[in-house]
Amino acid sequence: MPELPEVESVRRGLEEHLPGARILTIGTLHPRAVSQKSKAPLDLLQGLRCESVKRRGKYLWLTFERDEHALIAHLGMSGQFRVFQGRKAMKEELHPHVRMTALFKDGRKEFRLDFLDQRTFGWMRIDEIDEESSVPKSILHVAPDPFEDHFDPHRVIERLKRSKSEIKRAILDQTILSGVGNIYADEALWRAKIHPERKASTLNDAQLRLLLSSIRAVMKRALDLGGTSFDHLYVNVNGESGYFATRLAVYGREGERCRRCGTAIRRITFTNRSSHLCPRCQRLR
Ligand SMILES: [Zn+2]
Repeated sequence: MPELPEVESVRRGLEEHLPGARILTIGTLHPRAVSQKSKAPLDLLQGLRCESVKRRGKYLWLTFERDEHALIAHLGMSGQFRVFQGRKAMKEELHPHVRMTALFKDGRKEFRLDFLDQRTFGWMRIDEIDEESSVPKSILHVAPDPFEDHFDPHRVIERLKRSKSEIKRAILDQTILSGVGNIYADEALWRAKIHPERKASTLNDAQLRLLLSSIRAVMKRALDLGGTSFDHLYVNVNGESGYFATRLAVYGREGERCRRCGTAIRRITFTNRSSHLCPRCQRLR
């Protein structure tokens, strides 16, 4: 499932093509492609010129010139944006997983943007931008992610200290900080030597600071390598996989040796999720 580094890789890819380009046509090929919360059908965007491609956590959105609407997209489990340009590529038949397709024109250049989604948990919707925060209104509850200028580690640490839940569940809570999913939560907890089931409120300031810097470091490293294509469901806008999967320390490495101490990595299940950890480096007590 795409997390912050994968979604940011997609955003950067879209940013190379979309700003300045006008939407000529846009249409959907699957009923789940557009969320029921959409303020309008996607063809409201026809004729608009894209201004920018933004992201908060795992949410992407496009803004448009002289228009207050945004097109928000969430990749879900397997959503992919793909850009096709050149007469030959654009004429090829659509992939069976295409849920949305749009034709853009930028000067004399035309290109096609497809949204593919095998598992159909991804979605798009039209929303309005909140003037004060410049964030779409429907995701105002989503907290800033660790890569944002607005990210305030002190505020996050205070929230974590007041949390009644386990630390892993707390860092997956998108109202505390956004962008972290199962893979990077496990990786960051291993780096910070914290057991995922430790109560957040039992950790001291130094441990929480180390955890936040570990989250940022592991996601930055993953972004530098184009993200994690662990389950082959993530690719960038050119259809290329990321390379971080080979660098994972614990996620998906059950039974393999801890890269720090050599102990076998364990997989445990809680709150319907798998957690991967080193039982020696990450003690519960
Ligand atoms: Zn270890």
